[in-house]
Amino acid sequence: MKNIIGAIFGLLGTYAIAICGYMFTHNCSLEDLSGIPVADKRFLLVLLVAQTLVIGSYFFYILSIRRRSAKQLLTEEQRLILQQRRYQIIIDNSGEMMYEISLNNDACISTEKIREKFGWDIPKQVPNLDVKLLFNLLHVHPEDEELFYHSTSGLITNKMAKEITVRMQKQDGQYIWCNITYIPLLDANNNMVSIVGKIEDVDDVVKEREFLEHQVRTDGLTGLMNKQTFEEEAMKFLMSSISTGSALVFIDMDHFKEVNDKFGHSMGDRAIRDIALKLQIIFANCDMVSRFGGDEFLVFVKNIPRDTLLDKLAWAIEKLKETYSNNQDVVNITASIGVAYCMADKISYDKLLEAADNSLYAAKELGRNKCIIRDVYQ
Ligand code: GH3
Ligand code: MG
Repeated sequence: MKNIIGAIFGLLGTYAIAICGYMFTHNCSLEDLSGIPVADKRFLLVLLVAQTLVIGSYFFYILSIRRRSAKQLLTEEQRLILQQRRYQIIIDNSGEMMYEISLNNDACISTEKIREKFGWDIPKQVPNLDVKLLFNLLHVHPEDEELFYHSTSGLITNKMAKEITVRMQKQDGQYIWCNITYIPLLDANNNMVSIVGKIEDVDDVVKEREFLEHQVRTDGLTGLMNKQTFEEEAMKFLMSSISTGSALVFIDMDHFKEVNDKFGHSMGDRAIRDIALKLQIIFANCDMVSRFGGDEFLVFVKNIPRDTLLDKLAWAIEKLKETYSNNQDVVNITASIGVAYCMADKISYDKLLEAADNSLYAAKELGRNKCIIRDVYQ
């Protein structure tokens, strides 16, 4: 309608301009127009018809273009709706937990599987999406916040696909380990238009891996750190920290074999577990306690004054004394302890172990149930 009114006004305007032009060039007034020569009248008529044709075709052209683009827009919109429906059907039937959050119109689509697994949904509209909001929407464990923030900020700045493993909370409060893969969707100008996310439940896999890692690092009988892990951890500490005033404590039970011989191997095992528990109580302050093997234990005590260490070891000697008896037999077990005390930094683990072993040997030689401490300077 606007175009037709525009066209009429355009035509009238150009007629007026043409007539005014004629009046001006022939120096005549409006009344004189009726008396102008026939040839001029014809010329004026041809001019007006030509103008009508030109303006008419111009507006016709504009109208047809508009109609065509409106039609194109409608088809494009329908195509997009269809495409979105098709996309929704595909992801719904893929059995995957997926979502897409558009950064242009804040719309979010997510699969039914997310609700089935977690009992919650991602809202259909997610305005002002940022890392904090995404963290809350996905119900990620507070302890995984730093990892989540770090990798998600990376996704936004680098626009590259990312994969993280975090704990996500179900509606019943239980957390499960999940892999979240983010894929940024970029337009032709490399601007991120939406984030596509895929969630996978990897709870069983992570827990199995944690269990196996724990198995590899611990002693099966006592649950203490095993020899290899202890060695790695102690070496790490010795190399990276100020280790003067730290100590390697080597403990070997006295007459332990008699427990096995007189009360059986399972009683011996129970006794070993008891010793492990006692050592964990004695050296509870961030010290590393491990089973070296058999009835031997190693403890790494970090940065402790010599006197305090000696008091602790005296307590250990007392606490590790145990009597096993039945109607016929009595076995008294005690502990012999050899200690290597660091008088300098960066002493090698092997050097400390050798010194602690020598001290232990000396304690045994001196009649057992004793603690011998050696200072190691380099
Ligand atoms: P010593 O006073 O000289 O230390 O002698 P000991 O009787 O304590 O014997 P020793 O330290 O030489 O050897 C450790 C013994 O501990 C050998 C074995 O009978 C027992 N033993 C080693 N490992 C295990 C285990 O896993 N379970 C049980 N029940 N006994 C073990
Ligand atoms: Mg022994």
